[in-house]
Amino acid sequence: MKVIRTIKEMQQIRRDERLKTIGFVPTMGYLHEGHTSLMKKATAENDLVVASIFVNPLQFGPSEDFETYPRDEQRDQQIAKENGVDILFLPNVQEMYPDELKVNLSIKERANVLCGATRDGHFDGVITVLTKLFNIVQPEVAYFGLKDAQQVAVVAALINDVNFPIVLSAEPTIREADGLAKSSRNVYLSTDERAEAKHLYKALLHGLNIFINEQQDNDTLIQSVRKYLSKYTSGVIDYVDFLSYPELKPVTNKSERMILAIAVKYKQARLIDNVIFNRSGDIIETIKF
Ligand code: AMP
Repeated sequence: MKVIRTIKEMQQIRRDERLKTIGFVPTMGYLHEGHTSLMKKATAENDLVVASIFVNPLQFGPSEDFETYPRDEQRDQQIAKENGVDILFLPNVQEMYPDELKVNLSIKERANVLCGATRDGHFDGVITVLTKLFNIVQPEVAYFGLKDAQQVAVVAALINDVNFPIVLSAEPTIREADGLAKSSRNVYLSTDERAEAKHLYKALLHGLNIFINEQQDNDTLIQSVRKYLSKYTSGVIDYVDFLSYPELKPVTNKSERMILAIAVKYKQARLIDNVIFNRSGDIIETIKF
């Protein structure tokens, strides 16, 4: 595995390997099985796998955890190597943002709900860094986790709107044995918080069960999930929402795919999770855009 730190070197590799297909896995590091499942999929489907690790300051708000976001480069290099990554792109902030940007990229749909409603500018930061990374790496396929389903919806819009010649492969959420979605931020949970965090996924399944078995309106469904979360967790509910996917508009009886999504704030970590399903209530775990 090659470790590359400059944009110039990464672009040179792309030129040298122009006949190979590249599968790209962008990450913020502190790798876990959620990331390695994307790397394995990329390895199985492409000639070359590029993964990036870059904690992107642009997508963190002033009161968010940019400084304290967990980092462990040595460990990440080992994990990436063991999971089929050929090129690990590790630029620093100066390399990615040497000057103040003169161009503003801003997403106007799919970003004013769910996490975007409270994380002002977050998805603008996401599409800005991904536009740069997509241009630098020029992959055929980019792999993202449906754990961050709103991010997937936003990236699908970006790729479509500006015609990046990239397939977006959205992959299943990888969970701990008790159902908690794996996340780099789970290390910030206290023992008690970790023990009850399994109820986030259970709350989603409770909501899905209501969707399948009871003819409830959307608000009643949302309220039932809220009630479940309040009963079984001590975290503060940031949102519970039920929307069409990937449009992220209110669900109607024409919506083919829906997302039930939640965010819960604990002392030092904000956890998100979701389930995506069709009208029959079948869970959708992968989507190709
Ligand atoms: P991050 O390092 O948190 O920015 O995540 C990098 C990529 O890994 C994103 O596409 C995430 O959606 C994906 N990812 C993070 N956690 C999981 C998980 N538990 N299951 C599947 N994919 C994940």
